[in-house]
Amino acid sequence: MKIKYTIGIVFLSFCSIAFSQSNKQDSLMFIKLYEEAMLRGKSYENLEILCNTVGHRLTGSPQAEKAVELTRKMLKEAKADSVFLQPVKVPHWVRGKKESARIILAIEDIKSINNSNAISPATQKIIATEILALGGSIATPPDGLRGNVVEIKNLKEWDKIKKNQIEGKIVFFNQPMNPKTINTFDAYGPAVKQRSMGAIMAAKLGAIAVIVRSVTLANDNNPHTGAMRYNDSIPKIPACAISTKGADMLSKFLMEEPDLEFEFFMACQTLPDVMSNNVVAEIRADKNSPVNTEYIVSGGHLDSWDVGEGAHDDGAGCMQTIEALRILKAVGYIPKRTLRFVMFMNEENGLKGGEEYAKLAKKNNEKHIAGIESDAGGFAPDGFSFEATEKQKEKLKTFWKNFMPYGLHDFDRTGGGADISPLKEQGTALFEMMPESQRYFDYHHCDLDTFDKVNKRELEQGAFSMAALIYLISEYGL
Ligand SMILES: [Zn+2]
Repeated sequence: MKIKYTIGIVFLSFCSIAFSQSNKQDSLMFIKLYEEAMLRGKSYENLEILCNTVGHRLTGSPQAEKAVELTRKMLKEAKADSVFLQPVKVPHWVRGKKESARIILAIEDIKSINNSNAISPATQKIIATEILALGGSIATPPDGLRGNVVEIKNLKEWDKIKKNQIEGKIVFFNQPMNPKTINTFDAYGPAVKQRSMGAIMAAKLGAIAVIVRSVTLANDNNPHTGAMRYNDSIPKIPACAISTKGADMLSKFLMEEPDLEFEFFMACQTLPDVMSNNVVAEIRADKNSPVNTEYIVSGGHLDSWDVGEGAHDDGAGCMQTIEALRILKAVGYIPKRTLRFVMFMNEENGLKGGEEYAKLAKKNNEKHIAGIESDAGGFAPDGFSFEATEKQKEKLKTFWKNFMPYGLHDFDRTGGGADISPLKEQGTALFEMMPESQRYFDYHHCDLDTFDKVNKRELEQGAFSMAALIYLISEYGL
């Protein structure tokens, strides 16, 4: 018993020495990675090049292909062991000429709204409002589409709505994101359903079009686009986003004049699929490592919507991915597992790049133990959300302690990124970097998502955080 006890003590002290040594080694590596990111960082400069020389880059556009070439070059410059393209067939939707919309009010009602008795020879008042076609929408007829409007203020009301209330009309989904949430991503999910599913829901009851309140907490005149779906067995109807100010104005006029009309023009169309590419870079595992057949993939999506510059969504995540590679190389880290860094194509309107990557990983028998994504904006990192087994979660608790001195503190959220999600069925643990969330949806999918909205230090801290997590998983597995 005594001997066992002594052996136990010896074993424990050996473990604690080993543990404290690895702790020390890890904190030294964290310092090196942080210094490299903050003193010699390239992510901000690279993001400026992407935004200024390429700009927005919707899948299938010439800009998307330019971005493939540009990031291939950046990954080489970051000293990847190898860089290759992964061909992938992607959808090709184009917006066409600039869209427009107007609210048409009868003049009598305008008088009551303005409380004015002035007599005007006009019989209508027309008020222009900004819209954007939702991604994937069909066009309106060439001379526009006009109709009465039914407003839905809360999606929970939808089940009570009858066909005779909707048929032949335009449905106006006007549920705001809930401002009471602390993390804005918690408000996005419940509100985005009206954008993604609204056209199907409304067309089922005979609607002729949908207008969707922009999914943002900002109160301004910028419409925010985003993906929407159709169902082949239900008629396809045009769908547009209206700005939050435009939505509030339309809602106010509807109270005054329920019979007002809304008229809009959109020339968007879906062209045949085209070939594009994921851009993939590698740092190969140490030849002598017993786990060198395992992979860790990290990435962001290279495509963006066709408005703004795709700076936060997801130029930031792509540049942080390239930077994570550069930093790990610059500090001389030789990984135990092979590290992949991927610019995924087509997250916004199809996820074809993410699906292709997972398909090839399976086909080539590449065991991916972890996927890490940055696609929530280039703001200061708060932590990581993740999807992992209970056993892995226990191990991760020891990882998270290392991040505390760097301001990351939120490791309680569940979820991995969209592009890496197809790897889940192969047992890959998924991680998404979670930055501070308050401003993300102000810029998301609209004209405001430009380089000037990104802060250099915050972007660099995110790049460091990705590199640091990649390092820990490469060293200790999951
Ligand atoms: Zn995104």
